[in-house]
Amino acid sequence: MNTGILSFEFEWYLRDYFFRVNNRNGEDFESIFDNNEICSYMKDNYLKYKNWKLEEITKLFNTAIYDLHDRNVLIVKKDIGKVILKSRFVRKQCTNCYYINYLSSSESMNCHRCKSDNLKDFPPRK
Ligand SMILES: [Zn+2]
Repeated sequence: MNTGILSFEFEWYLRDYFFRVNNRNGEDFESIFDNNEICSYMKDNYLKYKNWKLEEITKLFNTAIYDLHDRNVLIVKKDIGKVILKSRFVRKQCTNCYYINYLSSSESMNCHRCKSDNLKDFPPRK
């Protein structure tokens, strides 16, 4: 698998994590995350990364956060080893390719896989 696909997948899991943290009990928006804690969490809680070395996860993580920083999703605080989210994430399914997207409200509402802007809430509201 090439690094492009690895990074794309990793970013999806990272967004999934941020989404979950801010969609469990309580109303407070949790925006500050410790980089080492995120990497350990990814290894311990996502089956996909269970057998990975922490250094491998950290490497992908470091690429992902600078990419997300450039795309206005979060701020990288290198000196303190933390990232700060700019806003919550919403979960949307693309009606074109069915991909599940986690989007920050500070970025454009387009599918990350096919770029379609035809997105609906996931799971659908009853
Ligand atoms: Zn799509």
